[in-house]
Amino acid sequence: MSCSPLTADRQANITSMLEQQADRVMALGEWEERWQQNKIGFHQPEVHKMLKKNIDKVLNGRTGVRFFFPLCGKAVDMKWLADMGHSVVGVEISEKAIRQFFEENNMTYTEEPVPAIPGAKVYKNSEKNISLYQCNLYNFSNSIEGHFGAIWDRASLVAVNPGDREKYAALIISLMANDCRYLLDTLLYNHDLYQGPPFFVPDEQVHSLFGSSCGIELLQSEDALVDKRNWGLDKFLENVHLITPKSN
Ligand code: SAH
Repeated sequence: MSCSPLTADRQANITSMLEQQADRVMALGEWEERWQQNKIGFHQPEVHKMLKKNIDKVLNGRTGVRFFFPLCGKAVDMKWLADMGHSVVGVEISEKAIRQFFEENNMTYTEEPVPAIPGAKVYKNSEKNISLYQCNLYNFSNSIEGHFGAIWDRASLVAVNPGDREKYAALIISLMANDCRYLLDTLLYNHDLYQGPPFFVPDEQVHSLFGSSCGIELLQSEDALVDKRNWGLDKFLENVHLITPKSN
């Protein structure tokens, strides 16, 4: 999709929406607390339908792809991909989430420190080729696991603090291999009615974050309001973008 030219009104509206959420901050401890209290409404027991629908576009004929899951939680999508012969690296601050992922999927795992990231641990199931790093995402880099052939970003860019989006995008771009296919799920809703997280991310910002080094295609835009009536929203759109490095 190419972005249509913005009217001055639309641009002013986007700027004001982004300013309103710019200082929203969820501390890492608050996420860990949510896991401790089982306040994890974002977790889905089934493989995400937009990943399923677009998986062929992500794989693009490749087998044995290395997938990166930023802010992975205990997403069952990781097992689904590993069962198909791909490998998965995830990053998640909550140790409870990581242990639950392996336990709920009946997988054994090892646990070791990560010398390059003080305080971090990596939990691995070698048979399925899944490695989950328990650390702050911003302490992860391409020196730890190299570059990735695919990224599935669901409830991740929309979960990070809005003021950290440039830092987040720069990290994601630095993790992309030349042939990387990055599937990004964003949400659009009326910010006057719900404050987030998840935070809304306008398509224009997807372009400003990734457009200088990547091509961006809007693959799907779905009305997902049915799931979100209890947030008092009148509109809730889920957009899925395919982002690929321009150098490829
Ligand atoms: N992608 C997962 C989880 C989304 S919720 C899914 O689809 O289910 C966001 C997750 O990111 C939470 O589990 C939270 O604990 C984790 N998280 C938030 N900020 C983080 C950070 N800076 N570093 C690592 N994990 C973080």
